[in-house]
Amino acid sequence: MLKITPYMGPLVIIVSIAGLWQPLLGYFMLLVFAAIFLIAPFRGRWFCGNLCPRGSFMDFWVGRISGKKKIPKFLKSYWIRVPLFMLMMVFMGYRLMNTHGIVNQIGMVLVIMCLTTSAIAVVLGVTIAPRTWCTFCPMGTLQSIVGVNKYPLLVDIEKCIKCHKCEKVCPMHLNILEITHNPDCIKCGRCIDVCPKDALSFKKSSRSS
Ligand code: SF4
Ligand code: SF4
Repeated sequence: MLKITPYMGPLVIIVSIAGLWQPLLGYFMLLVFAAIFLIAPFRGRWFCGNLCPRGSFMDFWVGRISGKKKIPKFLKSYWIRVPLFMLMMVFMGYRLMNTHGIVNQIGMVLVIMCLTTSAIAVVLGVTIAPRTWCTFCPMGTLQSIVGVNKYPLLVDIEKCIKCHKCEKVCPMHLNILEITHNPDCIKCGRCIDVCPKDALSFKKSSRSS
């Protein structure tokens, strides 16, 4: 996690709410998409755990009032996530085509997308767990496919004492000890910080161990 990560959250509120009056704020989403496309091929879902304003909002704001239940397993399935990604792309494409290139209308489409998805994320975050939305977020799914095994988390099994402290703090509820090269790891580093044996680290290469 970066030093600025906890402070990214308000950006999602500014775009979603102030954007209703200032549609140009919606273009901030293009910056987000650009960052995702630049980072994912090298670091997988690193953006989600370090720079995503919505992810930060879920962790540091919604996390305070979250039910903190287990994220349902079926939401992690690509059988749900890939069709959802395609549906969202088709829907967004259709809405953008109907703007006829009018700058403010394009901005408003992006604002409404941000508002709608953020509202769903907050409801799921409060009732289930902060990062429930992130489990099947279309942009997260895209990053997990593009950067499938990039910058993987490694467990040194000789050092590990199986205390499972790492799994307890994982915001994505990953089975760290069972599947270390999980494409849904958002590279937040929380597991590394709590490990009492320094058994966890990131590896820059894409090779599997
Ligand atoms: S926190 Fe460290 S020592 Fe404990 S189970 Fe996880 S990797 Fe192993
Ligand atoms: S496995 Fe570690 S780095 Fe990856 S999401 Fe979970 S806590 Fe963060």
